[in-house]
Amino acid sequence: MKKEDSDRVKHAIEVATKAHEGQFRKTGEPYIIHPLAVKKILEEWGMDEDTIIAGILHDTVEDTSLTLSDIKNEFGESVAFLVDGVTKLSNARDGMREIDTYLPETRDNFLRLLIALGDDIRVLIIKLADRLHNLRTLSALPPDKQRKIAKETLEVFAPLADRLNMGLLRVEMADLAFKYVDPKRYDELKNLIDKYNKSAAKSLKKIEQEITAALQKEKIQFELSGRVKSVYSLHKELAKHNQNINEIYDLTALRIIVNDITDCYLTLGVVHSLYTPMGGRIKDDIAMPKQNGYQSLHTTVITKDKRVLEFQIRTKEMHEYAEHGLAASFYYNEQKLTENYKKGKIEHLPTNLLWITELQMTAARLREGKKVDLKKLKLNLFADRIFVYTPKGDIIDLPQGSLPLDFAYRLHSEIGDHVIGVKINGKMSNLNKKLEHGDIVEILTSKHQTPKRSWLEKIITPHARQKLLHRLNKNGADGRA
Ligand code: MN
Repeated sequence: MKKEDSDRVKHAIEVATKAHEGQFRKTGEPYIIHPLAVKKILEEWGMDEDTIIAGILHDTVEDTSLTLSDIKNEFGESVAFLVDGVTKLSNARDGMREIDTYLPETRDNFLRLLIALGDDIRVLIIKLADRLHNLRTLSALPPDKQRKIAKETLEVFAPLADRLNMGLLRVEMADLAFKYVDPKRYDELKNLIDKYNKSAAKSLKKIEQEITAALQKEKIQFELSGRVKSVYSLHKELAKHNQNINEIYDLTALRIIVNDITDCYLTLGVVHSLYTPMGGRIKDDIAMPKQNGYQSLHTTVITKDKRVLEFQIRTKEMHEYAEHGLAASFYYNEQKLTENYKKGKIEHLPTNLLWITELQMTAARLREGKKVDLKKLKLNLFADRIFVYTPKGDIIDLPQGSLPLDFAYRLHSEIGDHVIGVKINGKMSNLNKKLEHGDIVEILTSKHQTPKRSWLEKIITPHARQKLLHRLNKNGADGRA
């Protein structure tokens, strides 16, 4: 059901319509079609009102006589800030030049873009919605522009969508873009997938019936649907497997959505009682969520007619999250944290959102002209993650190569500041020991301990580094170890 537009949103539409009057898109339609399409996308993603209004106004400052201070007067500081962010970014070359002054040494566009956007992730969300609509209408542009936009989408925007766990967006963007980057290959693979699905259709019907009967017998409530593999992800996987299609095990997949986590594991049991699981192909991303927050059980089985079939099992919330991702939830979480912080309650963002906080801190440091260790930042943002456990069994997600102090500061700066030792898997260890995936880490503290400058050498995450530096500067003392 569609919500009625609020008065502020209606007003923004009026202002944008007037501002863009007489302008047309390459498709020949009035320009306002585009900002309204961006508005609709942002609504579908569940974004807040300021973001939606900024989406409606996102091209006005750059392309019309409307100014940023007009927007500030009419719609407030926050909307103006967002529009300004999108405007700066939309002129990609200028934006990149600005970043160049910060980061002359990196050619990594993805990283540069992330840092430029680090301030407010909502700028990025608007940019993603803008890009999505431009891709949907890309056929109106000349071929060289099509290719340029499509390539940039595959290199920068689709990975970003993945990073935010916006699954639907990632698939739509990547497939739209891939069609322009390599039309021949796109058609070839699209045909292959269609042919494969057609040949599997009959046997899938039968499997769906078997699964339905078995789950009903166990009284598990569920929804069953087919998942179609995206062309671009098939393209990438084929490249990894020497173009051998027989090594791609998830060409066809069935998705089972259930009510809760217990039902996820029960359902996995039901599936395995019907079909033979393939060795080494059971993945539990529920107990250990992926870095972007994705959760699901995956298993590949051999069916009775010797087909390879993947099952994906998850709860409704996990499914919702896998498709729409962090966009809305980040804003929600941050609001909640700010409120609680004002009330004197200190909480942490969920770990799958911490990388955004780290980006924000990095962006702030760069703006203040401070030095940033890019290698460490990159490691932290893109390296493989490990999951380690507290003695109570809480999962802490850290970049590979993290040390005990990274873990301690992740728990709390009070813990980090007072570390005197560490036990790993129940055995005394030392602060130079790299943590391994699955380790149980117990930090030993003493209230008499103070942070040491030498600890900077025993830390790899910007998060921990920032906290330690903050404390060292505050203490004034150099606390030589
Ligand atoms: Mn636009």
